[in-house]
Amino acid sequence: MRKDNCIFCKIANGEIPSKTLYEDDRFRVILDLGPATKGHALILPKDHYADIFELPEESAGDVMRVAKKMVLKMKEKLGCEGFNLVQNNGDLAGQTVFHFHMHLIPRYRADGQTIAWKPQEVSDEELEEIKNQIVG
Ligand code: AMP
Ligand code: ZN
Repeated sequence: MRKDNCIFCKIANGEIPSKTLYEDDRFRVILDLGPATKGHALILPKDHYADIFELPEESAGDVMRVAKKMVLKMKEKLGCEGFNLVQNNGDLAGQTVFHFHMHLIPRYRADGQTIAWKPQEVSDEELEEIKNQIVG
């Protein structure tokens, strides 16, 4: 299902043109217009889900299958040495377009990009408490 006024719904369904790398009946993979590196791509489901919370479990598996196919092809064709798969959910987490998408970011030596966080200190007691909070 599509959502009115969602730009990624329009791109995924071909209403707005894009540089498409792959398409099937459920997904479109496009080049990002503000790429982190050469070949930065986005996997878009054709149905509208705002984020991973809304994405059906079955589609989540399919996203990863598409990612796997794409990174193999892109690694071969672009000659990148690594890949970051990034997927933001919620504005706090850096999401700016609220139609689920997964970033495929090819990495090259000295590409000048960092996808990083600052590791915090945590005690074993805190880890145990967090574990219990999640699975307890
Ligand atoms: P996020 O911050 O995870 O929501 O990522 C949104 C991404 O969409 C950014 O990397 C943008 O550069 C990209 N983007 C936004 N609009 C378009 C568009 N019309 N075509 C291609 N990529 C887009
Ligand atoms: Zn949408």
